[in-house]
Amino acid sequence: MMPDEQLFEKAAGQHVDDGFAEFIVSRLRWSYRLPESEVQFRGHGDGGHCSIDRIQLSHNPSLNLIAHEIAHGRQYRRRIKKGYLEVGRKKWHTKQHHRLMRRTLEYIYKHLDNWSVEYAVEVKGRQTRLEQRIERLEAKEVYKLSPQYKLDQLRKREKKLATKLKRTQTALKKVQRRIKIWEKKVTPIQ
Ligand SMILES: [Zn+2]
Repeated sequence: MMPDEQLFEKAAGQHVDDGFAEFIVSRLRWSYRLPESEVQFRGHGDGGHCSIDRIQLSHNPSLNLIAHEIAHGRQYRRRIKKGYLEVGRKKWHTKQHHRLMRRTLEYIYKHLDNWSVEYAVEVKGRQTRLEQRIERLEAKEVYKLSPQYKLDQLRKREKKLATKLKRTQTALKKVQRRIKIWEKKVTPIQ
């Protein structure tokens, strides 16, 4: 086992981009059953903050920072479970935090390679969907400028009018039939 300081130092030197950081956080949150919370990115100083419903990291955070904040999240969870979150201001940078952080880091390193593959697949999928969407939009634009579009629109209009006409003709025939019935009931004035 790598000594703590060496492990933390290694993690402090290993930065990830915001998207992958969010991915890692979501995996850790799921594994540690931390409440669903928003991830925010602020600043660049490799600093952060963690509360129950929010986790804040600087841009391109180090794995060390992620583990640090997640360890706070785990502390929160334990304290809520024990019911003493509201009781005064407990210290946060404790031996317990150190221990949780170490274990979180070990967990991250255990899964990091798999996660980067999964994340790459996710990003690729997102890009492909975006590209397909742009292609569809472009095709629609081209279509809208073509004579085929104009023709299709006219045919649609024709169909609508034909239906309307048919309906009117039916109504007309009905009225004409009724006129004949009522004509018979009227006695001509002598
Ligand atoms: Zn802290």
